[in-house]
Amino acid sequence: MIIYLKEIHSGDKIEFSISRKEFNIDELEGMVQCSFVLSKSKKIVRVKGNVVFNYKTTCARCLEHTTLDFNKKVEYIFECETPYIVKGQEIKLIPDEIEKCYFKGDEIDVTPAIRDTILLAIPTKTLCKPHCKGLCPICGKNLNEGDCKCQN
Ligand SMILES: [Zn+2]
Ligand SMILES: [Zn+2]
Repeated sequence: MIIYLKEIHSGDKIEFSISRKEFNIDELEGMVQCSFVLSKSKKIVRVKGNVVFNYKTTCARCLEHTTLDFNKKVEYIFECETPYIVKGQEIKLIPDEIEKCYFKGDEIDVTPAIRDTILLAIPTKTLCKPHCKGLCPICGKNLNEGDCKCQN
């Protein structure tokens, strides 16, 4: 998703959705909804807002399909790729400890930053509910649906 800076003023709210194909993450369900407010100067663009997405996965204990809903607050800082130089000295506009992305000319590609947000949000191990009982190790029955006879 490219944001064209010439068409946007500071403080403008922009809303769009991105198809999961653009992220190359198969487990996404439906579109990824984004709503951002931009503030821009010549060298820095701040993109602040929310990224909403659904992620389908399987429970690590009972193997049932489950969908996780996310609504992540995000703030991305894009710095112009051309270094800002005053009297032969490069000025750092953003401290090194803040993670930043870069833009060139009048276009910002927000897709890679949003992709990172999604990948960071996804837990490595998902449970369908906090106290999922899992499967019986003997007969394989899903114990959330009731007890099996093995334990008796
Ligand atoms: Zn489960
Ligand atoms: Zn059993």
